[in-house]
Amino acid sequence: MKSPRTQNEAAEAFVSVLPYRLFEVRLLRKTVLSPHLCRLTFTGDDIDMMCTGAPDQRIKVFFPGADGKPPSLPLDDSWLGAYQAMPTGERPPRRTYTIRALRPGEMDIDFVLHGETGPASRWALHADPGARIQLAAPNRAYDGDTGGYEWRPPTGAKRVLIIADETALPAVTGILEDLAALDVRPLAEVYLEMPSTDDCVGLPDFPELNLEWLPRKPGDRHGAQMLSAAARAHVPSDPAPDRADALPDIDVDTDILWDRATTDRKDFYVWVAGEAHAVKEIRRILLKERGVDRKSANLMGYWRAGRVMD
Ligand SMILES: Cc1cc2nc3c(=O)[nH]c(=O)nc-3n(C[C@H](O)[C@H](O)[C@H](O)COP(=O)(O)OP(=O)(O)OC[C@H]3O[C@@H](n4cnc5c(N)ncnc54)[C@H](O)[C@@H]3O)c2cc1C
Repeated sequence: MKSPRTQNEAAEAFVSVLPYRLFEVRLLRKTVLSPHLCRLTFTGDDIDMMCTGAPDQRIKVFFPGADGKPPSLPLDDSWLGAYQAMPTGERPPRRTYTIRALRPGEMDIDFVLHGETGPASRWALHADPGARIQLAAPNRAYDGDTGGYEWRPPTGAKRVLIIADETALPAVTGILEDLAALDVRPLAEVYLEMPSTDDCVGLPDFPELNLEWLPRKPGDRHGAQMLSAAARAHVPSDPAPDRADALPDIDVDTDILWDRATTDRKDFYVWVAGEAHAVKEIRRILLKERGVDRKSANLMGYWRAGRVMD
């Protein structure tokens, strides 16, 4: 009789063909990027089966629960069912992050360190090399577009507007690296609200880039700088024909604000991500007050001030 296989052996023998699959990874090293940003580099047996479709590729990260034990979801395609079948209180905490970089045998995630309040920030602060977590991430074996990203500017886009806070800095850095590598680049107007002046670091530069770092001042509420950027950013002077008077309201405390651009218009492309209440207000300013075409705008609530967003 064959001996029962360990979870790892079973996973090795298993080749998922779903768009996302589960990866078990261990922390290799931490690199401090700035007072509030830390890069965590991971490795794992099958990490080269991970892929990324765009610089804002999102993944789900599973952290240790209250007992401190690493997550142990099954490494085959039953992981999601197993997660959903767990009583809510027993599920490993799950948060959304961005693949900052993928190299042979390694991947990076840049964590905002916002203190001890959430399992993700807490883990990123205290984890030592060797610590294990699990990630649901795009599967290289999948024959198609795995999805899970919104940065899809039309080929030949002429102007892009990006407004973001620190949680979207990993995505924006990748976006600007991609733009810098183009032969013909769009004009890129970029506003980045950051926790402090010392966090305003690490972006590529190119002649068509107009970048404004917006460090928060003491007492500033999250998003205030992004709102004023939305009010003064250059937008097309011809208001969109369907001028969003009927913009559906959304309660960002209970629903996820996630508007996707759907147009191939090359003249103007918008990508906004950050604290959800601020993004909702930016949506109103850009679409209602300033007449930006709703179909050319990605508007994404990445997190909620004062609330958990699982
Ligand atoms: C598509 C997508 C991609 C993302 N990519 C990244 C990324 O690459 N790097 C990254 O750091 N974040 C990223 N985020 C944001 C991240 O998922 C949230 O910040 C998440 O809430 C952090 O989880 P937590 O366990 O630390 O805190 P939670 O348990 O979710 O929240 C606990 C408390 O902390 C507050 N809080 C959460 N995040 C912050 C913050 N950044 N600043 C201040 N207070 C906060 C909450 O309002 C709450 O009061 C991304 C989110 C999305 C949707």
